[in-house]
Amino acid sequence: MSEKRYCPYCGEEMEYWEAPPETGWGYIYVCFNNKCEFYRGSADEIVNKSEDQNNIGCRYGEDPLTNYTAINVLAYCPF
Ligand SMILES: [Zn+2]
Repeated sequence: MSEKRYCPYCGEEMEYWEAPPETGWGYIYVCFNNKCEFYRGSADEIVNKSEDQNNIGCRYGEDPLTNYTAINVLAYCPF
């Protein structure tokens, strides 16, 4: 039932991904591109706020159940 969605920030195809149960999102679309503008920008923002969390960023996601509302998916930066 998944369809192709493309990230508005980097143009990469987004993955249909099962979010962790505690988020309550279920299956969502997420951009897993590490070079994504959205992801890199969010990581920089968080670095400025706290040195302890310098490996955490937000990926861009969309929830198909709420008409593809944009959501911030907290993710660990691999770098
Ligand atoms: Zn992206």
